[in-house]
Amino acid sequence: SADTAMYYAKANGGDNYQFFGKEMNTRAVERHFIEGHLRQALDAQEFVLHYQPLVNLQSGRITGAEALLRWNSADRGLVFPPDFITVAEDSGLIVPIGRWVLLEACTQGRRWLHAGLPPVSIAVNISAVEFRRRDFLEGVRSIIEGTGFDPGFLQLEITESALMQDAKAGAAILRELKKLGVQIALDDFGTGYSSLSYLKQFPIDILKIDKSFVQDIDGGNDDGIIVSAVIAMGNSLKKRVVAEGIENAAQLGFLHGLSCEEGQGYLFSRPVTSDALAHLLANGLPLRPADPAMPHSEM
Ligand code: C2E
Ligand code: MG
Ligand code: MG
Ligand code: MG
Repeated sequence: SADTAMYYAKANGGDNYQFFGKEMNTRAVERHFIEGHLRQALDAQEFVLHYQPLVNLQSGRITGAEALLRWNSADRGLVFPPDFITVAEDSGLIVPIGRWVLLEACTQGRRWLHAGLPPVSIAVNISAVEFRRRDFLEGVRSIIEGTGFDPGFLQLEITESALMQDAKAGAAILRELKKLGVQIALDDFGTGYSSLSYLKQFPIDILKIDKSFVQDIDGGNDDGIIVSAVIAMGNSLKKRVVAEGIENAAQLGFLHGLSCEEGQGYLFSRPVTSDALAHLLANGLPLRPADPAMPHSEM
């Protein structure tokens, strides 16, 4: 943060500007590198989707999966979204990347059904940059038609901030999406600025409680109070409530006590490859809370 930089600057005496300068320069070089390689990554088919199961917290049964983008870079190995999504958004590359994600997720969903696996919904994250584009709706419509994936099993995850940039326009886009038959989830709920009145006004099906709240619940603190209020509100507005980032049994127990029906997190499963998810669906067994410290390819 700027404060930390200032602190180091003072500690280093006269070298403060140089310190800052070097730091900024490294970032710029890094961004430049990522942007240059992101451009080729689509053509080189270096993107891959991993899928994290969503489970019914009572039964442990898989109700859906969230598609999460990974970049399998020839130079750098597996790169995770926090290291490239912002660059992709700033450069506009998120638009073709996002289209690929949606197409791949719907194609995969269709393949699983054809293979005779039980139907589960697939959630896809939509960037604010994609959401605001005029051709977004048309893109979603053509991918649904082209793949034949049942839109009732497609969940589009949109953040509060993406909606709030222009609430009126956002509401209109959501209404059009609902006409296509897709489900709408409000992702990272609690970290944005939405008010209760907005929640009523938008055709939102699912609230996903941000993992930062789930991670700090232990019954007594503010995060626990916020989570319990969101669950109660979601339930009374007849929305499905999903808790993100469940890592341990204490968090699960707390959510259980508040009648939160669904969740996802390392406690049940990390994001896994499409093949691994197909195996989980095929054996049909409920996911039992695992030790999140268990070694895994996505660590
Ligand atoms: P998100 O949509 O909130 O996705 C959940 C993130 O939490 C994922 O991180 C997931 O791996 C991580 N997670 C799941 N369970 C746990 C847990 O128990 N503990 C912890 N600490 N983390 C957990 P990931 O895959 O690194 O993605 C980060 C963010 O990048 C996503 O947050 C989403 O906003 C964005 N993203 C991912 N894939 C896409 C995509 O295809 N398109 C767009 N536009 N954004 C994406
Ligand atoms: Mg998400
Ligand atoms: Mg998201
Ligand atoms: Mg989230």
